[in-house]
Amino acid sequence: MGILSFQVTAMNIMEKIQKLKKEKNAIFLVHNYQPPEIQDIADFRGDSLGLSLEASQTTADIIVFCGVTFMAETAKILSPEKTVLIPEKTAGCPMADTIRSRDLQKMKSEHPEAQTLCYVNTTAEVKAECDYCCTSANAVTVVTQALTHAKEIIFVPDANLAAYVTRKTGRTFVTWAGSCPVHAGITPQDIRLRKVLHPTAEIIVHPECTPEVIDLADQVLSTEGMSRYIRQSSSPEFILGTETGILYRLRQENPEKIFYPLSTGAVCPNMKKITLDKILTALEEMTHEVTIPEDIQKRAELSIRRMLVYRS
Ligand code: SF4
Repeated sequence: MGILSFQVTAMNIMEKIQKLKKEKNAIFLVHNYQPPEIQDIADFRGDSLGLSLEASQTTADIIVFCGVTFMAETAKILSPEKTVLIPEKTAGCPMADTIRSRDLQKMKSEHPEAQTLCYVNTTAEVKAECDYCCTSANAVTVVTQALTHAKEIIFVPDANLAAYVTRKTGRTFVTWAGSCPVHAGITPQDIRLRKVLHPTAEIIVHPECTPEVIDLADQVLSTEGMSRYIRQSSSPEFILGTETGILYRLRQENPEKIFYPLSTGAVCPNMKKITLDKILTALEEMTHEVTIPEDIQKRAELSIRRMLVYRS
């Protein structure tokens, strides 16, 4: 296919998507790690916390969720009366898939007095077993404000996020050995190399990175925290230790600043499964609709609503 016919096809797809979106009163919620062409059609672009808030407040009839499945599930839990579609149903999260509800039930039976906190990167079934849910943006706040009096806290599934929250709060946790392969794949050696190449750039990493990487960073922030911090920072150059999709948004928001990925290999294949073609099919055929059993939805909603109280 020549460049011209490719552009015409892309335009046709865009026109069809926008027409159907209007007819069906749909909204596109798009995660920061999505490919540029998907970020470009977002009604709202953000991290898990921002997207959850948006899902809970939207007046649209249909939410097309451009992210991974646990995020679409969270939107459905918060808006059970709405139709939530995920354009690619195999867009899962390997970290979320490390733990099942029966694993957490076993941990709870071994620690009967513990309060249970789950990262938003979990399935609806796991959230239904938890007292509180959190994102990387508000994990420290949830622990310091909501769980101050807890004798013991089970925190699943990300061991790296738990280690980071321990570092910030002094609280220790009963944890699960889960991690994000994308963030855990970023190494101290990546930082050393980038520092040689860009010695004056500020290094910002995500709390899903390993403690060894966090030790070498200037800042540790969620993706939304990165966006906020960089907008008000006077530094001209940044090295970002997170999924590379965020660079597109940061470059749009800060055209005068320069951004480098800490690792060019920090790409989440699941986040890249959403395409314009699949969004069009989702709207045309109403696929793939997210459904959650009512009892799971009700119990999971409680932990997610508690998460929404703590913004950061
Ligand atoms: S970047 Fe990591 S935590 Fe996020 S969806 Fe991909 S595997 Fe899961």
